[in-house]
Amino acid sequence: MTTQDVTATQQLIRARERILASVSHELRTPLTSIMGYTELALDELDDVVAQLRSTAADQGVELAVEATGEPVLTADAHRIRQVLTNLVVNGIKYSGRGHQVTVRTQSDALGAGFDVVDDGAGIPAAEVDQLFTAFFRGASAQASSQRGVGLGLALVKGIVDAHGGVITVSSTEGLGSVFSVRIPSPDEGTRP
Ligand code: ADP
Repeated sequence: MTTQDVTATQQLIRARERILASVSHELRTPLTSIMGYTELALDELDDVVAQLRSTAADQGVELAVEATGEPVLTADAHRIRQVLTNLVVNGIKYSGRGHQVTVRTQSDALGAGFDVVDDGAGIPAAEVDQLFTAFFRGASAQASSQRGVGLGLALVKGIVDAHGGVITVSSTEGLGSVFSVRIPSPDEGTRP
């Protein structure tokens, strides 16, 4: 290894340390900040989606919202908006021109929440288990021009876990992906 290699490696290590410090701050924040839950009517999430509509249009992706009933989430509204934003942005990034991303508000036995559905490239089965690991990026994401550092889904999972909720992924290569978020209602007794 030359001196130049060593310097470059040290710079990379320092950059990685800086990123880790800011990420661990981000990941810790929801745990400490979720003290005052508010009621968030899921149709209010239309705000979030409205803000992403121009991003979607720029990428040639159609963004739709389908509300089933009007479930109400009792949650840290700011953090839940962050979850929805990250999932919709991923749907836009990893589906691409001519594709569609749909947000469906849902509630079931696990709680209230939403599904973010895209008809993009999907995720290889071997990668699904790693999606929520910090810094993980799929092989095709790495090969693509889409930027990212593999932290969005780790943050999403941190926030959902902090609410005592669940996030699941169902994906078929070539057909698309569904990310489902459910947050239990306070009387279900599963909140940490
Ligand atoms: P980033 O987008 O910065 O790579 P994320 O943590 O948000 O990081 O996502 C991790 C990986 O999961 C992505 O690199 C990509 O491989 C995969 N991924 C996430 N969302 C989707 C999606 N909707 N469709 C296909 N792959 C996805």
